[in-house]
Amino acid sequence: MSMLGKRIVFIGAPGVGKGTFAKLLCKRWNIPHICVGDMLRDDVNKSAAGSLNNSGADEIAIFMKRGMLIPDSTICKYVGMKLKTLGNDNTRSGYILDGFPRSKAQVKYLLDNDFVDVVVHITLDRWVSIDKILGRRRCVTCGNDFNVANVMTDGYNMPPILPTDEGYQCPQIVLGKLCEPNFSTRSDDNVESLTKRLESYDVETTVAVESFKEFGGVALHHFPVKKGIEEADDLAEVIMQWFNIRK
Ligand code: ADP
Repeated sequence: MSMLGKRIVFIGAPGVGKGTFAKLLCKRWNIPHICVGDMLRDDVNKSAAGSLNNSGADEIAIFMKRGMLIPDSTICKYVGMKLKTLGNDNTRSGYILDGFPRSKAQVKYLLDNDFVDVVVHITLDRWVSIDKILGRRRCVTCGNDFNVANVMTDGYNMPPILPTDEGYQCPQIVLGKLCEPNFSTRSDDNVESLTKRLESYDVETTVAVESFKEFGGVALHHFPVKKGIEEADDLAEVIMQWFNIRK
């Protein structure tokens, strides 16, 4: 079974776990995880203003810190440039694109440039995503993500994801050395920025999701999360069935 060359897009509000699902499935399918938020954070940290077009890294950092969407023209060029460098003339690279599109203009950009085969809109009750965002931790040395939130009511089964859990070990060997665990939160995972990011999702991204139907041409699946990471197999199944691939 090969998922090489398949272009999958994950859309969802902050905290629904799209990054965690994407990481897991990309590892399983051996395709790149194109996480727009992480790439932006890396480039802003490296002050890679050049790769961020006319807007400099400082300007981008302000949008991100305030939880505001980066203007469409800037982010479309940025993501387009990253996607075009994948694969080569003979082989089209597949990927899971996570965090783009978030507006109708971004949907149009993806479709006009033939960057997507299937779209999955991942949803989760709002109170759970807020708990999960405020529980996020990342080891800045090895880059592994964890979550200290424990959501076990209302039918949810989302225990914390801890450095002691299988598949998430920290410390772990990085470049031949055992990493020194150093857990931190993201600077924009505070209540003020989060409120803005959720508002952008409600106002712009939900319209973007609907616009896939309006423009047509790609499959759109809604995937409501009820349990958490253990639903990764169900999510994989939805995607593989669409591509008509059997395990
Ligand atoms: P989250 O999904 O938790 O809000 P991300 O890590 O995906 O966070 O994105 C962080 C920030 O990067 C956003 O708040 C926004 O400023 C910027 N960003 C990421 N993706 C996009 C996008 N598709 N369009 C505009 N801005 C974006």
